[in-house]
Amino acid sequence: MNINAPPKRIGIMGGTFDPLHYGHLVAAEMARHEFALEKVIFIPTGNPPHKVGRRVTSPGDRYEMVKRAVRDNRFFEVSDLEILREGYSYTVDTLKDMHELYPQHELYFITGADAFREIFTWREVQSVLSLSHFIGASRPGFDPHEFLEELKRDYPEFLPHMHLFDVPALAISSTDIRSRVKEGKPIRYLLPESVRLYIEEADLYRA
Ligand code: ATP
Repeated sequence: MNINAPPKRIGIMGGTFDPLHYGHLVAAEMARHEFALEKVIFIPTGNPPHKVGRRVTSPGDRYEMVKRAVRDNRFFEVSDLEILREGYSYTVDTLKDMHELYPQHELYFITGADAFREIFTWREVQSVLSLSHFIGASRPGFDPHEFLEELKRDYPEFLPHMHLFDVPALAISSTDIRSRVKEGKPIRYLLPESVRLYIEEADLYRA
């Protein structure tokens, strides 16, 4: 073993994925390449604390959609770690579990610019920041730079863990896809065909 070899890196793409769409896949793929990640593990949230107030599709359906979407990329995987956990899903617990599963790896948690700006509101933010690197992928309509200023002021020691990078802009959101289905508008080409077919089969988002 070469003890001077840089540590291997695992990417984590957390999200509600209700449903998964090309915005998620493009951010994950570009981050994988840019940060030399060995693979990216998609972790659908079980019970997301920040999405209270609207009915989130069952974890089983969301997991299945991610599974179908990632199967043609050998660098992508899906994990049921959060959906099997009781209670709310907190990133701090997921990062601890991932360190147990991958003790030799550095973790890189991938978010869009909107989620990146919210990191301060996450439970046990100090631990969260110390457990992983964070990648903020650009997302139309969201500017993460203000967050970086706050970070510089309040947690300067974590700046080397925080990375912003540009991905091709895709103004796609799960919210928009859900409304489109409800209104009978097309969603083809906003998300993988396998996910679109699952939405049809399972009759999601119409009610
Ligand atoms: P919703 O519209 O229901 O809030 P969403 O489209 O934001 O959902 P999530 O599952 O909440 O999707 O997002 C998971 C992660 O993917 C978040 O970090 C989010 O910022 C990022 N993300 C989602 N869509 C895009 C996009 N179009 N470009 C870049 N990042 C994205």
